Amino acid sequence: MTKTALPLVDGFGRQVTYLRVSVTDRCDFRCTYCMSENMKFLPKKDVLSFEELNVLIDAFVVRGVKKLRLTGGEPLVRRGIMDLITRISRHLGSGALNELTLTTNGSQLAKFAGRLKQAGINRINVSLDTLNADKFTDITRRGKLEQVLDGIKAADDAGLAVKLNMVAMKGFNDAEIVPMVEWAHQRGYDLTLIEEMPLGEVSRDRAGAFLPLRQVRDQLAETFTLEKIAHATGGPARYVRVRETGGRLGFITPMSHNFCESCNRVRLTCTGQLYLCLGREGCVDLRAALRDKGARGLDAVLDEAMILKPKGHDFDPLRQAPAVARHMSMTGG
Ligand code: SAM
Ligand code: SF4
Repeated sequence: MTKTALPLVDGFGRQVTYLRVSVTDRCDFRCTYCMSENMKFLPKKDVLSFEELNVLIDAFVVRGVKKLRLTGGEPLVRRGIMDLITRISRHLGSGALNELTLTTNGSQLAKFAGRLKQAGINRINVSLDTLNADKFTDITRRGKLEQVLDGIKAADDAGLAVKLNMVAMKGFNDAEIVPMVEWAHQRGYDLTLIEEMPLGEVSRDRAGAFLPLRQVRDQLAETFTLEKIAHATGGPARYVRVRETGGRLGFITPMSHNFCESCNRVRLTCTGQLYLCLGREGCVDLRAALRDKGARGLDAVLDEAMILKPKGHDFDPLRQAPAVARHMSMTGG
């Protein structure tokens, strides 16, 4: 095995095989739990070019990354995004990557669904916190529910498997979880519920809206029969099958349950910062490494990064202040 083919293994023996890439910090929505009303976005010159992103992604793939998720911000609002996706998808053709996927707010899906499928993407995650049009515009501060539902339908029609992500919020959508399970499963979509995390300053009471998914699960068990299943995506979600609908339901509980021991992922921001943990500040600057040392110098920096990967995060649901200053749209969800 050559030096460059050595896998990425951290100080706790965990192999990093999953890379999330935030391709832009920009978004056409301003979800209240994710962004502040007046977000200041990065100047374009600070954002990695597609060429730079490609070099970095190639370096990870050579070191054994098998799964890649594009996210943001909203990945589908970055101009020319299909060029990047098409370029990355050659790693699917060669067998180096097992999966290329994307997390999206769905607003642009009607336009892109067919092309995403053609590029080898088989599954996508779409964020959908409510099926009520007014509440949808409220929580996203500008989104149109209908446009997103059209996007989801287009994705389904194009043959993309859809998983919905719903951030569970007390007093906002807690009463909609049962209807959302039914709506999603009737259409053959998986649904994953997510606990809100304290990432970045937002102008709302996060601790007040915090809804422990343990509690949600107990309440759902009054309506549905939740059967444990072994389904694992290599991610933090724990899944059950809902007997009455036959569909899959996931729970991501970063706040009340620590899932870090099996963490296999790292996150690259659109400025080339590599974050080793969503809930911690530690990162390495891959853009500087690339610009100073070139592609060949990257390997050593990736090895240094592995040593920095922490054992885990430790969020406190009752704390008002963010656990880390950067927003989810920066690190990529
Ligand atoms: N714009 C795309 C979207 O909304 O799907 C991709 C980026 S978004 C940051 C990725 C995921 O992070 C979304 O499912 C969103 O609901 C979730 N998210 C954002 N801020 C969060 C927070 N503070 N806590 C938990 N999930 C959050
Ligand atoms: Fe945009 Fe996604 Fe953040 Fe909402 S959650 S503001 S859609 S990046």
